[in-house]
Amino acid sequence: MIQKRLQTVLQQIRDLEVKYQRPSHSVSLLAVSKQHPVEAIREALQAGQRCFGENYAQEAVEKIDALKEVSIEWHFIGPIQSNKTKLIAEHFAWVHSIDREKIARRLNEQRSSKLPPLHACVEVNISQETSKSGVMPEAVLSLAKNIALFPNLKLRGLMAIPEPSHDFESQRRPFRALASLLQDLKREGLAVDTLSMGMSDDCEAAIAEGATIVRIGTAIFGPRNPRGLINP
Ligand SMILES: *Cc1c(COP(=O)(O)O)cnc(C)c1O
Repeated sequence: MIQKRLQTVLQQIRDLEVKYQRPSHSVSLLAVSKQHPVEAIREALQAGQRCFGENYAQEAVEKIDALKEVSIEWHFIGPIQSNKTKLIAEHFAWVHSIDREKIARRLNEQRSSKLPPLHACVEVNISQETSKSGVMPEAVLSLAKNIALFPNLKLRGLMAIPEPSHDFESQRRPFRALASLLQDLKREGLAVDTLSMGMSDDCEAAIAEGATIVRIGTAIFGPRNPRGLINP
């Protein structure tokens, strides 16, 4: 079932690249496995998936340990508490959700220089909701410049989770705004190439606006247990 859904999602991505005149394979798939068990990840691995996204550091590290014989690129995409930066710095290849300088500094200090730099995106509060995580658009440049100076982090780009909407044009607007912020960073001389945007319900709008990584959970793994399969 998971293998079949994964193939369907990958085909949809390839079709949307064509539809929106994006270069072939310019959009990569991050399979979001939070609150799904190790067996579900193994099924996706069998279908050829190599990049997985997790939201809860402790839950993720248990899965990473259980799968350490397999070559997987792990991405941390959840809110980051200060006391979780060490786990993230030690176990992940990417972090998408840096939203303050303190977190960036701790990740840089705790990332071993023997490991490749931790690929890093700034999470932007693109719909500017007070309750949401992410840095406000006007503060992105300063945080991105900070990250770019840290030797054990590698600034890659921007991530956002816009306010959900069922209207296609309303879905596109915040993604367009995020793409425009990435252009601002490029104009400032930062070497960025990543737009991490789009989930199961708004993936088409994100690809239309230039997503380079879509983060898909439900469409691959099915619904999550709302109470959490594994306690965060
Ligand atoms: C859960 C989650 C996703 C995946 O969401 P789906 O709607 O299940 O595809 C993507 N990004 C982040 C940050 C998430 O927390």
